Amino acid sequence: MKSIMYHYVRPVPTQLDYSRYLHVDDFCRQLDWFAARYTFIERDAFLGSLREGRACEGVVLTFDDGLSDHYCYVVPELIKRGLWGVFYVPTGMYSKGKLLDVHRIHLLLGRFGGDMALKLLQDILTEEMMSHHHVKDFHEATYGSQRNDPATNSFKRILNFFISYEWRERVLDQLMERFLAGGNERDLVDEFYTTPRQIRAIHDAGMIVGSHGVSHLVMSKLGLEEQEREIVDSFAFLEDATGSRPITFCYPHGGFHTFTRETEQLLATQGALFSFNVEARDVTADDVRLRPQALPRYDCNKFPFGTASFGPKRPVSPQPAAGHGLE
Ligand SMILES: [Zn+2]
Repeated sequence: MKSIMYHYVRPVPTQLDYSRYLHVDDFCRQLDWFAARYTFIERDAFLGSLREGRACEGVVLTFDDGLSDHYCYVVPELIKRGLWGVFYVPTGMYSKGKLLDVHRIHLLLGRFGGDMALKLLQDILTEEMMSHHHVKDFHEATYGSQRNDPATNSFKRILNFFISYEWRERVLDQLMERFLAGGNERDLVDEFYTTPRQIRAIHDAGMIVGSHGVSHLVMSKLGLEEQEREIVDSFAFLEDATGSRPITFCYPHGGFHTFTRETEQLLATQGALFSFNVEARDVTADDVRLRPQALPRYDCNKFPFGTASFGPKRPVSPQPAAGHGLE
């Protein structure tokens, strides 16, 4: 079984000349490509195989971050094709009225580009804001497979992994003032994410809605109690929004460095049937049987037509990143 991960899926965005996203036309072409080579697993067969601890053949589509893109462009396309997907929604932005920090980072990079964004950050950053014991762990493991310029990688590494969480929000508040230029961030939340009503509609359309935590934090950076709160609170929010208890989770940022065996245990205790990590390989019967809370998933950029567009620029070639070993 191949599970595929998507984030932004949209037409060319306005006012975000440096943003990375999968153009909705490329998304459709990639679905065609999968359809020509594999089967898409039926939802009930997929859930049945997980419950019985065996693998099944075919493709499962997953969509992270609760983006309004998914409601506007992805779900209608899936419905048209008779397909379904798993939608991983973080929940903290609704009560807060601010974008989650991870998405503020994307928007800042999308508007200003890596060099300018890094310069704005360096003007604010001081030594005491950094949490140095994480630097070594995360430096090697992060963003190696993304095709970013060095300034973009530095900007993301500092804000996602190196800065202590107590400082990150304050630093991003300042940077967002530049982005908003007098606008209101709460309005941006409604525009950027699926609303709770849209989450319900996605669920009612036959999709699976899973949790992506409350605040999209790296779980391994949190104590066990905080991890539990991320899981319990996000599950409760989604149960309220959809009318069904969530049965799945995906780790914010992903990769084995972002969660621990205790995280997996907590998820199993809260009733997660399966959880997705980011590890570019097929899901085997052993994965399903022995480690259902860390199932592997491919980024869509490992397959043809999955390469990100950059601002208004479309990828030159539909070919996947080198070395994926599929064709
Ligand atoms: Zn995410």
